[in-house]
Amino acid sequence: MFRIGLGHDTHRLTEGSFIMLGGVRIDHDRALLGHSDSDALLHAVTDALLGAAGLGDIGDLFPDTDPANKGRDSAEMLSNVWKQVQGRGWSIVNLDAVIFAEKPKLSPFKDRIKVRIAQILGIATDRIGIKAKTGEQVGPIGRKEAISAECVVLLQRSKSEMEDGA
Ligand code: MG
Repeated sequence: MFRIGLGHDTHRLTEGSFIMLGGVRIDHDRALLGHSDSDALLHAVTDALLGAAGLGDIGDLFPDTDPANKGRDSAEMLSNVWKQVQGRGWSIVNLDAVIFAEKPKLSPFKDRIKVRIAQILGIATDRIGIKAKTGEQVGPIGRKEAISAECVVLLQRSKSEMEDGA
């Protein structure tokens, strides 16, 4: 059995000196604004997994009204969600993601991001696609007001795992 999931996230840019994307710290002249560490890519990956498994969304699991989620490490949230999804018998066929950012230039970081996500999920890097696009200087991305990310994930589980009642 296969299931597909889609995740999308946006964080506004504000004053600061670094951003977190895909669990990688990237020095920048701006920061991402949000309740957690504002890693838009890991949030999109997390929502894609939750969506595919039918388990709600990241806001259901980690509400921004809960002080425990303030400044929270998105890698830890993703790891938590992935354990729940795996607990229902699912494994990842592949995931494919796009980061939308005018700046900083992300091509030097794509491999590191891929390795970091592979490490968080315990899967091979060749199951992960990371792409980066600018906003062509238009819209909130192009005006450097925000960074967004999208992710699709394909999950599979065997019939025997389904019959276990997961
Ligand atoms: Mg977010």
